[in-house]
Amino acid sequence: MNSSAKNNVPECSLTLEMVEFRPEWQFEESKTGVFYKNGVIPGKLFITFLGGNIQLDSAKKAIDILETMFKGNVLNNCEYIRIADYTDVTKASINTRMLYANSLNRLNEEYHCRPVITYICGASLLLKTMLRLFASYVKQKFIFVKTVHEAFELINSGKGLNFAETNHPITITQEEIDNFAATCGHILFDEFYIVDEKQNFVSPGHPLYDLYTIISLLNNDLKELQKTEKEQKQKIEEALNNSRILNKKLSEEKKNVEEKEQIQQILIENLKKARIEAESASKAKSEFLANMSHEIRTPLHAVIGMTELLLDTPLNGEQQHFAETIQISTRQLYQLISDILDFSKIESGQLEKEQTSFNIRTLCNEISTLLIGNALKKNLKLEISIAEPVPDTLNGYPVYLKQVLLNLIQNAIKFTYQGTITIKVKLETESADETSLRFSVKDTGIGIPEEKKELIIQRFTQLDSSATRKEGGTGLGLAISTQLVEYMGGKLNLDSKVDEGSEFWFVIPFQKTVNAIEENNDTAYSMPFKTKETENKDYPGQASSKGEKILLVEDNTTNQQVAVAMFTKLRYKVDIAANGIEAIDALKKIPYALVVMDLQMPLMDGIEATREIRRMGNEIMNPDVRIIAMTANATEEDRKKCLKAGMNDFITKPFFIHSLRELLDKWLPNNNT
Ligand code: ADP
Repeated sequence: MNSSAKNNVPECSLTLEMVEFRPEWQFEESKTGVFYKNGVIPGKLFITFLGGNIQLDSAKKAIDILETMFKGNVLNNCEYIRIADYTDVTKASINTRMLYANSLNRLNEEYHCRPVITYICGASLLLKTMLRLFASYVKQKFIFVKTVHEAFELINSGKGLNFAETNHPITITQEEIDNFAATCGHILFDEFYIVDEKQNFVSPGHPLYDLYTIISLLNNDLKELQKTEKEQKQKIEEALNNSRILNKKLSEEKKNVEEKEQIQQILIENLKKARIEAESASKAKSEFLANMSHEIRTPLHAVIGMTELLLDTPLNGEQQHFAETIQISTRQLYQLISDILDFSKIESGQLEKEQTSFNIRTLCNEISTLLIGNALKKNLKLEISIAEPVPDTLNGYPVYLKQVLLNLIQNAIKFTYQGTITIKVKLETESADETSLRFSVKDTGIGIPEEKKELIIQRFTQLDSSATRKEGGTGLGLAISTQLVEYMGGKLNLDSKVDEGSEFWFVIPFQKTVNAIEENNDTAYSMPFKTKETENKDYPGQASSKGEKILLVEDNTTNQQVAVAMFTKLRYKVDIAANGIEAIDALKKIPYALVVMDLQMPLMDGIEATREIRRMGNEIMNPDVRIIAMTANATEEDRKKCLKAGMNDFITKPFFIHSLRELLDKWLPNNNT
């Protein structure tokens, strides 16, 4: 900053005419009457004329103009004199002034300028008071003059810079002071007092006139403030009311949501209950079916056994015909019971969970052996082909796979009158640890109409065709197959055309095995479910009674008779015990080679008796005696229970005599010698 300029600003006389006014340094608002006009004697003087009600908006415009001026370098690195003409200012809020003053200070600093002195022209007393306070804030020295002309006079006379306002003595009467005090009191305590009443007390020339004016202005401001406060209070009240309403709505909503949640909870509870009920109903149904099947199996066993034995006696033609009819019907009945039991097993989730490894080619050979006879009887070809890349050994559920294939092939044979039944096993996909195979059973039979396809695969549906009626069946076979295929991870599909034939097919994923299993071991997966009409083999009669003795433990006399007749037929010697206790007594006396044990008996049942026999060891004559369960309880669980108690094998009633013979051959192999 050029400090030498201090006190020397007017090197020569400064006049208003020397001032440069540029259009971009001014503005005027016709609406509000605000005007702002700047002029400069470069590096020396900065004059501003302003007027009207100057509020924040006008101040912002004014600041923009200030910026423009300083950028124009008319005031730079200098000390200058400032003149501000306030004669026409009606109002200017403090905020506006602060903003303006701050900007001016900032620009002065930025452009290294300093107003040495500021002449304020035409300021009211109130304005003067405020500006005096303000002077320290804006770090400026103010000199109050009446007109711009006077300001120039002072500048040029050189007095201005050291100008001090002279104090004139003022004379005020006691009455005037009292009136003034009263007015102040009114203002303090009477909110409706209007200061304009000052006119009643003093005239404009009076020394107190300015004070009244100040009070009047302050009072007006106060009223405005009060008005604003009242409005704000009202707004707050409204906002509060609104928030209360909102709160109420919110709590209502919350209540609604809670109610809905409660209802939802109740619904969930009901659903859970319904599910539990449905599950227990389904379990009850399965149990009922299992029981029913048990009850039916027992007498059916007698009918089957006795019919077989009867047919083996000399009969005349008519008797032979009657006995054969009985046999066909009982076989159908037997199939029905087996299917129902299978289905109830599947439904009640009693399927085997563990997978076993098996040889797919062996399995197919077995199927072929079982069914080739049925096919040949109808002059049908039965072709089974397994594609080369299909691995021998797989991990899965061979029992269920075999049952599905048997069901499908039996149906194919049943509903085909000429042609070929083709069974194909192909590799569908292969990954590092999984092999998916496609199985298909195709026939050249009667076919299935398009609209019946879906139905057929569902439960218990039979087509109402003469063929179905002619061939008989339970309508359960496909339902069981569908479920078993699903259990193994596939889906049973059907392609068919009426009079051309049907193809049932499915794809099943198998885990790859690391170790190959022993092949052709028929105990690896014996059938827990009976298949349709596979047990039609003749059995060769035995020439003479065999050496080893069998103990039959059975309480039901009819069953005793059937079993004894069968054993005798097979040339075995047999004794009877009516329950577990009798059996143990007998075993203590005679070294039986084999015990055939019923499960449900009075006094001591088959399981308990077996445990006891195994526990007794040497206390019985033949500690190695084989024990075989012979029961109408046909579930896998029953079978496991028997083996766990110490039994060696399990045969389900009803059975055909050849099954019994196979079983006895297995457990008494030395007997033929
Ligand atoms: P079932 O054979 O014991 O009646 P299924 O569930 O095995 O019961 O079969 C249901 C019905 O589906 C059969 O009665 C028959 O109408 C029809 N069906 C099944 N397989 C074939 C097939 N290969 N060709 C024509 N119809 C079939």
